[in-house]
Amino acid sequence: MAHAENIDRLPDGAATRDAIAALDRGDPLRTFREAFVIPPGMIYLDGNSLGLLPKAAAARARQTVEDEWGQSAISGWNDHHWIDLPLRVGARIARLIGAGEDEVVAGETTSINLFKCLAAAVALRPGRRTIVTSKSNFPTDIYVAEGLANLLGLQVRYAEPLEVSAALDDGVAAITFSHVDYKTARIEDMAGITAGAHAAGALAIWDLCHSAGAVPVALNEAQADFAVGCGYKYLNGGPGAPAFLFAARRHHAEMRQPLSGWMGHAAPFEFDAHYRPALGIRRMLTGTPPVVALSILQDAVDIVLDAGIGRLREKSKTMSALLVELIERECRGHGLALGSPRDAEARGSHVIFHHPEGYAVVQALKARGVVGDFRAPDCIRLGIAPIYLAYEDIWNAVGHLRQVMDNKEWARDEFRVRAAVT
Ligand SMILES: *Cc1c(COP(=O)(O)O)cnc(C)c1O
Repeated sequence: MAHAENIDRLPDGAATRDAIAALDRGDPLRTFREAFVIPPGMIYLDGNSLGLLPKAAAARARQTVEDEWGQSAISGWNDHHWIDLPLRVGARIARLIGAGEDEVVAGETTSINLFKCLAAAVALRPGRRTIVTSKSNFPTDIYVAEGLANLLGLQVRYAEPLEVSAALDDGVAAITFSHVDYKTARIEDMAGITAGAHAAGALAIWDLCHSAGAVPVALNEAQADFAVGCGYKYLNGGPGAPAFLFAARRHHAEMRQPLSGWMGHAAPFEFDAHYRPALGIRRMLTGTPPVVALSILQDAVDIVLDAGIGRLREKSKTMSALLVELIERECRGHGLALGSPRDAEARGSHVIFHHPEGYAVVQALKARGVVGDFRAPDCIRLGIAPIYLAYEDIWNAVGHLRQVMDNKEWARDEFRVRAAVT
């Protein structure tokens, strides 16, 4: 599907500005924009890296800090149920990813959660010494697999998700891939790949960082064993927001993870001299939960739940199709090459275009208030967070991109100096 559907078009098939205004008027999610702080003059196409601030989350942070911590002090653990926040927030996230409410906990970072899941998976497959992941996976996922392999004397084998079957044998304990590729946005066949892993006797661990809150996920339908994901991208939990971890119920009784801290103990407040894992998903926990951050994430996730993952996905597909269509039409001849799947069904909620001057193009866009990001070596990555973007933003962003390209604004020296964090 190359065209965004439901758009009025000129006789030559081109989408018009009026048609885009009509899309905004008919958008069932249009009021959600008001729930977020949108910096004036900014068109934010980076919600896949850091979601914008929900106004309710700011109010919640103040309440947790001033009313709960400030007034209750240590009694807050009971009075405000702080201790249950990892499970409470996990239960909400579960509804977005096709999991049971007792199968998800929130906390840690994605990297740490992946470490726990990989370690648990390997322990569930004694005698098997190989972890399979892809070289195109997000680097931290690869590094964590390597780190665990070094610790336990395992081997990491690399295969792209589409070719994973050739890498499976009876030595593979676990495979781990991203559900939506952080560069190309390609959506992997979670059910098919998981079934292949199971047929070879291995477990499947999925990274949902670029899916959660943007693309419907059906972990249990796909028979996924473990999953991890991020709280600060499409869930809008804020910089460094807690991540989440899923473990399928069928593994709860047997699974063990090595970061066996007291919050994963069967009775943390009995102060036993030895570790005894809690029942269920709780055993995947380690230390004291980040209460302020979790309370913010809880409200942020509630907004996503209100919007509804189905409606978010529909809007995201229409928007990303429109973005591709407008860029290819307005910036023709400027060397921008689509690097994401052309079919919106096969694509997550961002789009990349290759361009040899991609870094400078992203900087020039930023100077115009259009915030996207750059991924090496040459990817201009434009994220679509449908919960707070208007169709008009897409139209205007492409107008800016066209000017950047037509005027060769990217050639200015100031846009070619690389910053430490991009
Ligand atoms: C964003 C992202 C991460 C982030 O990991 P942290 O440990 O939370 O910093 C991990 N994996 C993928 C695929 C990501 O997109």
